[in-house]
Amino acid sequence: MTTPRLTTVPTNTGQTRTGSVVEFTGVTKRYGTHLALTDFDLTLAAGELVALLGPSGSGKTTALRVLAGLESTDAGRILINGDDVSGVATSRRDMGMVFQSYSLFPHLSAGENVEFGLRMRRVPAVERRERAAAALALVGLDAHYDRFAHQLSGGQQQRVALARALVTQPRVLLLDEPLSALDAKVRVGLREQIRRIQTELGITTLFVTHDQDEALAVADRVAVMRDGRLEQVGTPEELYTRPATAFIADFVGLSNRLAGVVRHGFAEVHGITLPLLDPSQADGPVQVFVRPEDLTLAAAGLPGDSLAGTVLLSSFLGSLRRTSVLLEQGGTVVVQHDVRERPEPGERVVVRFSGAPVPVEPDGADTTGARPTPS
Ligand code: ADP
Ligand code: MG
Repeated sequence: MTTPRLTTVPTNTGQTRTGSVVEFTGVTKRYGTHLALTDFDLTLAAGELVALLGPSGSGKTTALRVLAGLESTDAGRILINGDDVSGVATSRRDMGMVFQSYSLFPHLSAGENVEFGLRMRRVPAVERRERAAAALALVGLDAHYDRFAHQLSGGQQQRVALARALVTQPRVLLLDEPLSALDAKVRVGLREQIRRIQTELGITTLFVTHDQDEALAVADRVAVMRDGRLEQVGTPEELYTRPATAFIADFVGLSNRLAGVVRHGFAEVHGITLPLLDPSQADGPVQVFVRPEDLTLAAAGLPGDSLAGTVLLSSFLGSLRRTSVLLEQGGTVVVQHDVRERPEPGERVVVRFSGAPVPVEPDGADTTGARPTPS
């Protein structure tokens, strides 16, 4: 099956659009005395999908709303293709938006919902119908033109919302937790579909989510927010393998946290010496972050690379297994391993460290709030 392309439909100007460049520079937004965004700098390249990731309340929606013009800013500038849009109304900023809650008009069919933005722009009826049908085909719902929201599943409603956002061929696509209300399987399928369509159209996209798996899976780059500020921006691989801060190490992916000490450019945990991600780290007591996949279960260890412990629990996760081990020296670690290894609770095991470089956090530093709040 060939996917009908939105760009085959003529635009008002008759031109095919390519992705726009979006720049936030020094954007600050206050609600009363609360700083929802502080000195926020972020550039989205043409056609890039950037995921804005962070715990609840970190300012993700605020960043999206100021870009859309739904909120004013207190300082800074927002540029689209070099033009300052600060004084431009939402309706003239040319953005497609999809939100978490299904926002279809219940009294309109799927097709009429998609046509809505075109109707506002006084596009003639025949062209409207044609473009809405093409947009619905893009999300695989061409057969559902006449269905009403209550006749569509949650995932289908979000696909209609996506078609509605794209039909006007916006310069930028804004998605605010578009998958959060859906169940896990639909969520994964739809995020892949969004990514495929976004890549095909080459539309610059800001994808807000509190779900790190989702962010890592769909984005060209991930921008992690904390308390209204950007903590780190990078490719999924960069964030995962080279977290700039302990907050990122803790928030992105799963990490064990172990008490240790930094001495002469290395981290020591219960007598095991590990290289530091940041060798300039000052000496002193720290929390050491170790990925479950950087630990293995072994029959016996060599001194200096392994610790003895007792299995607490082993969880089968389909393609892998995670086993928590209570260490003799105190503390619990999670080890990720092959499903064919089946440690039993109570079994004595040895946990071996791969020696991958570790991020650390000086004792007393604050990473509270690092864990995503389930919503
Ligand atoms: P996120 O989308 O990351 O969960 P938001 O951008 O919605 O976070 O909110 C950031 C902060 O700003 C939160 O502390 C929130 O309570 C506050 N906030 C958001 N919108 C408003 C508003 N309209 N009035 C007052 N405070 C708000
Ligand atoms: Mg939000």
